[in-house]
Amino acid sequence: MARVKSEHTTPELVVRQYLHAAGFRYRLHDKSLPGKPDVVLPKYRAVVFVQGCFWHGHGAACLRGGRPPKANADFWQAKFSYNQERDQRTQAELRAAGWRVVLVWECELKKSERGATLHRITNEILAADDVWFD
Ligand SMILES: [Zn+2]
Repeated sequence: MARVKSEHTTPELVVRQYLHAAGFRYRLHDKSLPGKPDVVLPKYRAVVFVQGCFWHGHGAACLRGGRPPKANADFWQAKFSYNQERDQRTQAELRAAGWRVVLVWECELKKSERGATLHRITNEILAADDVWFD
């Protein structure tokens, strides 16, 4: 049985490969920064977080339409709230330190959305209104 490799490509890897191909150079999971951002682009003073829709509580805007599990709803709600508060605190710390924070949701990287999402990421990193690389 042939395995299709792209099926195992994580959302974070999609973003990293795209940025690398576009000529961006970055560090990964920089522990010296709040929240250990997935991708750090020092030249642009930008960080990228690729967020899993489930754990980070994407909610109503989620393109996958994820819903919290019905069982143990209180537990999950508390867990998601905790994660969201922590995310917001982390992002506020980074912004206060002069970093541009680019957020990407897992669902925004599904095939039909990927092109537009990567375009947005590029523009946010560059703080540009509109740039196409390809
Ligand atoms: Zn989502």
